[in-house]
Amino acid sequence: MGSGASVSEETPPERLEVEDAQPEAGPASTPAEWSEDTLQNLQLFPKEWYNQGRFITTNEEKVNTCRFWDPQSGVWLLLPLQWEMEVEFVKVRVQQVMFALPGLVDQKEIMAALRQCNYDPEEVISVYLTMFGEILLQASPSGDQSYTDLNSFRALLERDRVIEDMRHKLQTKEKEVENLFQRNSYLTREVRYLTDVVQHLNQKLAELEADQQEAREKIRSLLNRRTPAVPPDKTTSKPAVDPSQLRKVSQLTRELNVSNKQLRSTVHQALADIKNQLGQFYDSVGKLAQVEQEATKETEELRSLYRKEVVERKSLYNKLLELQGNIRVFCRCRKSLASSCLEKTDDQEVVVIQKGNRKKFQFDKVYSPSSTQEDVFTGTLPLIMSCVDGYNVCILAYGQTGSGKTYTMMGSKENPGVNIRSIRELLRICAGKEKVSYTLKISMLEIYNDTLNDLLTKSPSASLDIRVQGKAVSVPGLTQIQVQTETDILSVMEMGEKNRKIASTKMNIQSSRSHLMVALEVEGLDKVSGQISRGTLTLCDLAGSERISKTEAEGQRLVEAAAINKSLTALGQVFGALKCNALHIPFRNSKLTHLLQPCLSGDAKCCVFVNVSPDVKDVVETLSTLQFGSTIRQVSLGKTTQNIVPAKTNKTAK
Ligand code: ADP
Repeated sequence: MGSGASVSEETPPERLEVEDAQPEAGPASTPAEWSEDTLQNLQLFPKEWYNQGRFITTNEEKVNTCRFWDPQSGVWLLLPLQWEMEVEFVKVRVQQVMFALPGLVDQKEIMAALRQCNYDPEEVISVYLTMFGEILLQASPSGDQSYTDLNSFRALLERDRVIEDMRHKLQTKEKEVENLFQRNSYLTREVRYLTDVVQHLNQKLAELEADQQEAREKIRSLLNRRTPAVPPDKTTSKPAVDPSQLRKVSQLTRELNVSNKQLRSTVHQALADIKNQLGQFYDSVGKLAQVEQEATKETEELRSLYRKEVVERKSLYNKLLELQGNIRVFCRCRKSLASSCLEKTDDQEVVVIQKGNRKKFQFDKVYSPSSTQEDVFTGTLPLIMSCVDGYNVCILAYGQTGSGKTYTMMGSKENPGVNIRSIRELLRICAGKEKVSYTLKISMLEIYNDTLNDLLTKSPSASLDIRVQGKAVSVPGLTQIQVQTETDILSVMEMGEKNRKIASTKMNIQSSRSHLMVALEVEGLDKVSGQISRGTLTLCDLAGSERISKTEAEGQRLVEAAAINKSLTALGQVFGALKCNALHIPFRNSKLTHLLQPCLSGDAKCCVFVNVSPDVKDVVETLSTLQFGSTIRQVSLGKTTQNIVPAKTNKTAK
């Protein structure tokens, strides 16, 4: 037992219940009165504490003997036991117990017991008697008591208190557990009930759905069975359907449902298969795209190789032609019944006999009077291929009037000349080239008195001029007609010839007094490489080269002669300049040479027929013509690039 102040665990709401409190045993005297009689070693309990202190009973407040409520700390302070023993209220009770149990001698012990028993001396006596028996009713002979027993008593009291407390708690917990059990079982029952309800509802729902399905099937079946022709019998109350049939229908419906399920399963399976196949398909598509990409790359490489090959082939062919000469001169002798001044010694040589003199002339080929149109054309054949390759090709017929120029170039319908045959050959070559699509355009003009006349135009009065753009020479406004077949070309040329005759008659001139030029533009689009080539085949039937003396000609004839002389001289000058590789080639000296410029420069190929008359009377002109031809033969055209140009739009008449 300590004598210092200690702190109680109790708090104000928790009341210290004191049963059977002794009001009469209250403080008989004030603390101030007895405090002066305290033992010397004890510190006095402050007076105001007694005033403030409270002893709590069930129903009323009394002066506190052992506890003091400290408002600052908010707890009940337990008074030191020594101090409490000085309180009269306690003293009286201690004496009471000691009187009843003389065996108890320790006042402090009795006081502690009183504290435990809420200051009830009767309860303390009862407890002691229960525990120690009547032995305490008699005074101890030695005057003191076994501390062991008393300690045990206190421990017992304490344990009892703890046990009581625990029991209380246990009871509370048991109650709570019981409540929880009850709640749990209630909830379990509730859950079970609800589960049953849900199950029941589900079952009901399934039944309802089945019924609904069945009913629908029945209705459908009934509707199907109804015969439109027979009106419903309203008077009959008999059911319209036989129950056995309904059962059958029901059975059928069930079977249908089963089939439906099986079908759904099959469909699901099929969908899964399709999905799988789609996956494989996408994979394949991906691979295909890859393969396609590789193929495209290969194609591009091939195309590039092809382009290279095509260019090389053209180049080689061109070189081959160049080796043979860019300008080839053929001599053709016309048939004659009269005595001949010409003698063909071999394929490339012709001799002119004049007054016993023999003069030799060398040509690429000499065609005797017996040579056919086909023979003559054979010499020009290689040039046609060159034109299809994109080079400019020109075939000229030079000679005096009546020497057979027109016959060589145009020929007759039955026996066509170089023009028709070369065009025919050109069409044949074009048709044979599947990878290239060709567009052919034809134009026809005549040069008369150094003026250009469009022979295909519907308004012949329109004057034409030559325009030069870089190396390109063109005639703006010149009619070009797109042609596809030989028939097209023939009809166009026929029209041109007709126009020429009309104009000649109108102007009172002979066709031989003008130069005729037929130009066929060949544009090829290589479908593989995308390259475009453009070549022109120019067929030129020149005006008669005979010299007309000033005395013979006058007026219109003189003008004509002057124009022809001028243009043919210009042609001779051009060839002369080309022969000596002059820096300046006088193409612009005449309309004829100007127009022929693309055919007489660069990679162009030219073929000149010198037509001669074997008649002795024409020997002078024959000599002159052969001289002109042999001069030309030594000319080699300048080297430029291949005439392959990008696509352009031309003025085209159809
Ligand atoms: P040019 O055009 O040079 O004035 P042509 O071609 O009109 O001369 O020929 C004059 C005539 O001679 C025509 O009647 C023509 O049919 C004929 N003729 C010319 N060359 C030959 C030939 N090689 N074979 C047969 N007849 C020819």
